[in-house]
Amino acid sequence: MTWLQQAACTDVDPDLFFDSDYERAAKAVCATCPVREACLEFSLSVAEYGIFGGENEKARRKERRKRGIVREKAVDAKCGTASGARRHNREGEPSCDACASAQREYHRGRRAASRERAEAVAS
Ligand code: SF4
Ligand SMILES: [Zn+2]
Repeated sequence: MTWLQQAACTDVDPDLFFDSDYERAAKAVCATCPVREACLEFSLSVAEYGIFGGENEKARRKERRKRGIVREKAVDAKCGTASGARRHNREGEPSCDACASAQREYHRGRRAASRERAEAVAS
């Protein structure tokens, strides 16, 4: 079992971790997480945005500087994934078909999730 499978955020809306308006809520989830340390260590080498291991980007930048860690760039994000689409975007090129379709799928999923939430709140 990898640490990810024990993550407290598995069933939590991922937007929470990537929207600064929800930073406190995200950190509260991390505070209950059994794999917070592993998540933070992982994120120090790879993550650019969002809350990981209970820390935001700024705190991670500071920790990296302190420890002399150089972040691996996400240049190897695979084609056919939403991260691949973001990589194309970062590199200023149009997404390939596989990435474009992965990104459409991702946004469809996100929209469906927020619709469900809205319905749950309304009912
Ligand atoms: S520390 Fe936070 S972001 Fe990392 S796995 Fe746990 S809940 Fe998720
Ligand atoms: Zn691609």
